[in-house]
Formats: sequence, C-alpha cells, structure tokens
Amino acid sequence: MSHDLSHILNHLGEDRELYFNAVSPPIIQTSNFVLPSIDALREAMQDELRHHLYSRGNNPTVEILRKKLAALEHTEDALVFSSGAGAMTSAVVSLIEQGDHVICVRNPYSWTKHLLTQFLPRFGVTATFVDGTSMEAIEQAIRPETKVLFLESPNSMTFELQDLSACAELARRHGIFTCIDNTYSSPLYQNPADFGIDLVLHTGTKYLNGHSDVVAGVICGSHALIRRIFNRVYMVWGPLLGPSDAALMIRGLRTLPLRLSRSDSSARILVERLKNHPAVEGVLYPGDDDFPQAELAKKQMRGAGGLFSILLRERDRRALCSFAESLERFLIAVSWGGHESLVMPMAAFYDMPGKPDPDHPINLVRFYIGLEDPDLLWEDIRKGLDKLYQR
Ligand SMILES: *Cc1c(COP(=O)(O)O)cnc(C)c1O
Repeated sequence: MSHDLSHILNHLGEDRELYFNAVSPPIIQTSNFVLPSIDALREAMQDELRHHLYSRGNNPTVEILRKKLAALEHTEDALVFSSGAGAMTSAVVSLIEQGDHVICVRNPYSWTKHLLTQFLPRFGVTATFVDGTSMEAIEQAIRPETKVLFLESPNSMTFELQDLSACAELARRHGIFTCIDNTYSSPLYQNPADFGIDLVLHTGTKYLNGHSDVVAGVICGSHALIRRIFNRVYMVWGPLLGPSDAALMIRGLRTLPLRLSRSDSSARILVERLKNHPAVEGVLYPGDDDFPQAELAKKQMRGAGGLFSILLRERDRRALCSFAESLERFLIAVSWGGHESLVMPMAAFYDMPGKPDPDHPINLVRFYIGLEDPDLLWEDIRKGLDKLYQR
C-alpha cells in the first residue's frame, strides 16, 4: 500500500499478527531481549539499530513510532529521544569534530542557543548567529571549518523563515550539513527533506504527541546519517524514549491532522480579528497574507498551525502582565502544541533580578490556539484588549 497520510498514521509499522491481532500496539515494557542462539546474538551485536537486543538501542514499540515519523518526513529513517533538546544536541554533536564551526539562525529555541553558546565552546566548537532571512548573511558566515548550518524555519516566537532549497544548495556546495528544527510546522505543513535539508528535527512534546503529557524528541534523515547519530551519540548518551511514552505518541499521532487543522483554522480566525483591534499594533503569523515572508511561506509550507504573536500598543510591564492574567480561557504557560490554548507575555521576563531583559520586545505576546471554540477564545481576548485600550 502507498504511504499516504491515512495509512502512515493508522497502520504503517503495525504488524498486528505479531501481537494477537491487537488493533492497538502493545507497550513492550522490557529492557532486554532473549536471543535464540549465539549466532543470533553475534548478529544482533553487529547492528543494534535494526535488531532487538537491548532497549537503549531499539525496542519494538519505539520502532513503530520511528517508522511512522520517517514516513511523515519523507526520509529513510528516524530516531526518537527523551526530549526535543536531546534530539537537537544529538544531531549537532554527531556532525562535528573539535574545532568545527556552526552557523545558526538568530533567535533559535532557547536551549539550542545554550547548546551553541555555553556547551559546545567548552569543546572548541564555535557558532555564528545570522539573520536567516538573508542568504547573503548566511553565505558570509561560512568559514573553512564550518560543518553545520542549523535552521529553525519558522522559529517559535517571531517566526522568521529561511529559504530551505537555497540553504540546502549553498550548504551542499560548501560540504556543510543542514539541520532544521521543524517543530513549528510539524511534518504535515512542511517537509524540509523535500528541499534537500539533511536532518529534520522535532520536539515530539508539541504537535506530534499533542496532549501535553509526554516530553519527546525526533530526528529524521537518511539511513547513513541516522546510523551516524546512533553510533556516535545515541548509544553513548542513552537519550532514548521509553516504550510507554512511544505508545502515547503513536496514539497522539492518530489525530495529528484533525488537531492541526482545527488549531490552524481557529488561529486564522483570531489573527483576522486581532489585526482589526485598536489595541493591537501588529500580528506575526506566517499564515497571514501581511506576514513579511508570506510568499516564501506559501512556497515551502502547507499551513501554519496554532502559534502566533501579537505586538500591543501598550508598553507598561504591569499592564501587559495584567492583560495576560485577565484571560480566562488561556493558560499562562511555556510550551505549546497541546489541546489547550496558552498565552505567554514577553513582559513577564522583563526586570528579572540578575537576568538580562529578553531579545524580544516587551509588548510581544505569544498565543497558542488549542482545540477550544474559537469564538469563545476571541470573546475572552477581546474583553482583555478592550480594557487595555480604554486605559
Ligand atoms: C519546545 C521546543 C523545543 C524543545 O523541546 P523539548 O521537548 O522541550 O526538549 C525545541 N524547539 C522548539 C521550537 C520548541 O518549541
């Protein structure tokens, strides 16, 4: 059968005859596997990625998830991790040697930035952060020792895009590996491997699991690169996802298209209304026709999902925090991609004792639109905005 989306999410990798014809795959809760002979043991030791020898390397429940994720991202193979941060770190570390250089887009996810500015410099690896909307800026940052170009398109706060095929082409010419954090789009709305990107990374914590009850990470890529990550990092650091969490993720994936299209259509309704409210200065959403890179978004993305930011006219920290607190249908929280709508005002991170102010403006408020009724969500935001405007 062809690997269409319905087949991938509902059936691919699930060999039901192996487990009593159960519809739902079993959670193979085991650390260890028995081998029938010494020859079989020797064979499994040769290739732990393919055989069932020990669950730090491979586990049948986790393997079902890996097959689905690889198919979703149009790649040959995938590995899953105990967190998105673990996936990002493992990808970069597997590609570099001491003294190498990494180019990364400005304002990546906070712990990706920490990896490149705090962790890797201890091992002689340096990083340059560039404006990813400019191919010239990326090209100018290339050095003889540059080994990785790390993209996040769009990022999860201000949503700048990179031209994926131009980046892949430039990197290939210079012998540089390309990685992308594809969490914002999920595999449903963007497949970077189709544009020539080498490694496609996700946190499974957001849309892929989608129910705010698992922390997980994903790397999708060629057989050769996945094997390289497995041998160089995965088996050494042991950042595996356990079979119980893998089973929850398989369950979450069943409804990925339904959840994502609901979040996407609700976000579009809210963005339109927000743009017309006098308390709002601007809206940042790659799915909006007024988005600065709307053309590029249309070229490489099929949708935008539920995450966007607004810029308010208000600049007062307390007023901005009170606005967020006044919302009754939005939870104040980090993360996103679950069933529940969230709000995160940048103002919350200003004037923190002993910490520099954030790089993002104080009047930026990030919203995540979950699965609730968009009209009720709008009524809630509108009340808060009216109050701000009347101040
Ligand atoms: C949440 C997030 C991560 C980190 O994933 P964890 O599963 O929390 O480790 C990485 N990138 C982006 C864009 C994220 O939103």
